[in-house]
Amino acid sequence: MNTGQISHPFIFELKNVTKTYDSVQVLPPVNLLIPSEQTTVLIGPSGCGKSTLLRLMIGLLEPDTGHILFEGIEITQENIPLLRQRMGYVIQNGGIFPHLTAQKNVTLMAQYLGWERPRIEERLLELAKLTQFPRDGFNRFPAQLSGGQQQRIALMRALMLDPDVLLLDEPLGALDPVIRSDLQNDLKQIFHSLGKSVVLITHDIQEAAFLGHQIVLLRAGHVIQQGTIHELISAPTDPFVTRFVKTYRGPLETLETLEISKGGDI
Ligand code: ADP
Ligand code: MG
Repeated sequence: MNTGQISHPFIFELKNVTKTYDSVQVLPPVNLLIPSEQTTVLIGPSGCGKSTLLRLMIGLLEPDTGHILFEGIEITQENIPLLRQRMGYVIQNGGIFPHLTAQKNVTLMAQYLGWERPRIEERLLELAKLTQFPRDGFNRFPAQLSGGQQQRIALMRALMLDPDVLLLDEPLGALDPVIRSDLQNDLKQIFHSLGKSVVLITHDIQEAAFLGHQIVLLRAGHVIQQGTIHELISAPTDPFVTRFVKTYRGPLETLETLEISKGGDI
């Protein structure tokens, strides 16, 4: 939503950020600019450091060296609790609490912050409408809801405090293909209507191209290329990029393939 406020051009800036786990360096110095009010997709093979990057951005991890800025402000251990209230995060596999109802999952943080009941209820209804979550699901526990509905709870929870940025770690990874495709469409619609900065992780190039204004392709912690799907296809910076995007089928290409196979049948 455009509130008329001038936002910082970059929601996140990573400057020479490194991270080592148990003497294995998973992130060599990473420099990355994530633009505001756009959807940026982090993509790359399993284990390349995508989740680590996201955890660093929301301050769940501290970089060994380097700096991370959120809307131009350097993240520190002191300011992160407050800054994090402006970040909505959906962890890999959703991370909703199984022993809490859908409503409680979504409203927990607002209650903790002392929001008045009417304000909480109004926001909950707004979010249920936005994510098309059924009203009769509010009092159910996650196990009594479908996988797609559980993802909608995770999304509502991340959006509850109306954050400046939404970070989603493989939000659709565990869903079957039909539900996944429905939710991809819904997510795109939601991102568009909110106009927020979004950072999303996937390992699916179709999903990256469908949802992302731009894509950041990683390999072993290195940013190999950052750009639109068309830039990755037409001006790859490395043979790895070409290998990675070769499975991409644009909508027109898919149609052409269908036409060819139809023709072949005759
Ligand atoms: P991705 O999300 O791209 O699959 P991750 O960021 O989760 O990758 O992990 C990057 C690498 O760091 C992997 O090799 C993983 O095994 C390792 N790793 C992640 N978290 C930890 C941790 N807490 N301790 C040790 N190694 C870790
Ligand atoms: Mg991951």
